[in-house]
Amino acid sequence: MLEPSPVSCDPEAGGRPVEEVDWLLYNADWVVTCDSEMTAIAKGAVAIGSDRLVAVGATEDLKPRYRGRRSLDLAGHLIMPGLVNTHTHAAMSCFRGIGDDLPLDRWLNEVVFPAERSVVAPEMVYWGTQLSCVEMLGNGVTTFCDGYFFEESAARAVRDSGMRAVLGQGILDYPTPDHAEPATARSRAESFLASFPEGDGRIRPSLFCHAPYTCGPDTLRWVKDLCRELGILFQVHLSETEWEVRTIEEVYGRRPVLHLDALGLLDQGTLAAHAVWVNGEEARLLAERKVGVSHNVASNMKLASGVAPLPALLEAGVTVGLGTDGCASNNGLDLFREMDLTAKLHKVTRLDPMVCPAGTVLKLATAAGAATLGWEGEIGSLETGKKADLIALDINQPHLVPMYDPVSHLVYAARGSDVRYAWVNGRLLLERGNFTGVDAARAVAEVNRVALKAMKS
Ligand SMILES: [Zn+2]
Repeated sequence: MLEPSPVSCDPEAGGRPVEEVDWLLYNADWVVTCDSEMTAIAKGAVAIGSDRLVAVGATEDLKPRYRGRRSLDLAGHLIMPGLVNTHTHAAMSCFRGIGDDLPLDRWLNEVVFPAERSVVAPEMVYWGTQLSCVEMLGNGVTTFCDGYFFEESAARAVRDSGMRAVLGQGILDYPTPDHAEPATARSRAESFLASFPEGDGRIRPSLFCHAPYTCGPDTLRWVKDLCRELGILFQVHLSETEWEVRTIEEVYGRRPVLHLDALGLLDQGTLAAHAVWVNGEEARLLAERKVGVSHNVASNMKLASGVAPLPALLEAGVTVGLGTDGCASNNGLDLFREMDLTAKLHKVTRLDPMVCPAGTVLKLATAAGAATLGWEGEIGSLETGKKADLIALDINQPHLVPMYDPVSHLVYAARGSDVRYAWVNGRLLLERGNFTGVDAARAVAEVNRVALKAMKS
């Protein structure tokens, strides 16, 4: 709900009514709204009341109408919605750089799964997630979608960070770091959901089946049924590698997307990460069932999983967002880099420079990403009434001038390190590059302490 704001007539505003708001950001060189028209406003302004956007428009229109309890002259800056990272495993920042240069099956079975079994614990998940929150926020990500173990600890870290997130408890038909007995995984899922913190709606619970090759049909079915019953997001890695397609075909006689469809798993409440090895029939089915897809270009390139058919998925009408995947397969959480890679990889793959234009890619990282999480009504674009999740980049820098087209620059020239301000739910979390709510130095120190000690022991 919008807080009622006092209205007065300010003589300096020529007697027009002036509404008091919490924040008035004005004089921004550009406000890129990421609305359906990808509207960019020169000399733009944004008014924030409580946790929502009260107005978005030209400075000359908004400044006489709103008085900010706090106001900020953002000349030399570009304002845009906070980016949405639709797939990550935040606590895996503790594993940044382990198992580099291996294919997915060896990376998982020889490095990641053994490391997780031996060292993942609540404290590691808390600090690993906290560090990822710091890294993402500092690079302009205000919302992320997570899947991991001890997800209650991730929830505490996200709550402490002030960010917005969907947090999925990981489920496999194998012993996991937080649940030794797969046969009773349902009780683990239910205990996670029961303990989920009530709050201001910034954090939503989810369940995350690792993949069709680590979760059998019964597991996939009960997890999806529970998600449907509770109206929460069902996440799954899907068709990530050619090996997965061969394996699922051998065991179930169908390709992975068709396998999940036969189990009744595909609908708007399902988010499929990767979708690399998807053919035309599967792309059409994903579109028809309204399944969201998270495109993880850097992870797919690093693990040499393949090139997802992004242009074909978009042509088929699939809702696609961008994801970084976890830090062990990327090895960072900068969505500006993902945008640049996404645009360029698909151009060179199709030998067509007109594929994946900047406006399309920027939409994937913002409004479309929000839609894959079922959050499009509240975040992903700067429009009156939406949640105040926004960032401001310093654009007075050598690599960003001149700026003829702000949308193009955001995809091909901007870097995460250009982000100087971030608000989530109307709360300022990053101010001139400094974190206001979280101790970034402590997160760095604690991950060094917890992760390095555990990996050496
Ligand atoms: Zn993943």
